[in-house]
Amino acid sequence: MSAPSPASRLRPLLPSPVQRAEDERFARHGVTLLLKRDDLIHPDLPGNKWRKLAPNLAAAAGRPVLTFGGAYSNHLRATAAAGRLLGFRTIGVVRGDELAHRPLNPSLARCAADGMRLHFVDRATYRAKADPAVLAGLLEAYGDCEVVPEGGSNALAARGCAALGRELRGVADVAAVACGTGGTL
Ligand SMILES: *Cc1c(COP(=O)(O)O)cnc(C)c1O
Repeated sequence: MSAPSPASRLRPLLPSPVQRAEDERFARHGVTLLLKRDDLIHPDLPGNKWRKLAPNLAAAAGRPVLTFGGAYSNHLRATAAAGRLLGFRTIGVVRGDELAHRPLNPSLARCAADGMRLHFVDRATYRAKADPAVLAGLLEAYGDCEVVPEGGSNALAARGCAALGRELRGVADVAAVACGTGGTL
């Protein structure tokens, strides 16, 4: 039997609520501004992070998850929190080897407190993270892992985010989305 899905164990608030924001600058032009409150999906895996991670965690099926991010990556934090909540190992490959010798910032400290193993790499190595040789080196160090790209943005993530579009169907004419890796877009 397969393990229960992340969704059945973490009970995300889905579909996330839509909230009307009162803003004179929009109202003046006859535009209604709605906020899609994905930040309420889960306290530790908020927003698009849940939508992108959930299908990747299902694919990982309990194997350790190795992923990538900058020093303030919300994706690393969400992955670390998922690891703590669901009981799988997490490895975060962090951009900037200079960080290895400094106190952890609050974001990385949270990752570490959630049990994430932090692996700092220099910027050139980080840029080459999709390189088979770089990946092979990481997998040699950490063993068999599910490798999830920066921002969690891959084909599975895009499928997870498609639910956002379905939830907004018929609700809004135009949607605006904050963009990092572009996975959610
Ligand atoms: C992750 C994140 C983004 C970027 O999402 P992408 O799918 O990588 O474009 C934007 N805003 C916030 C607050 C985020 O945490």
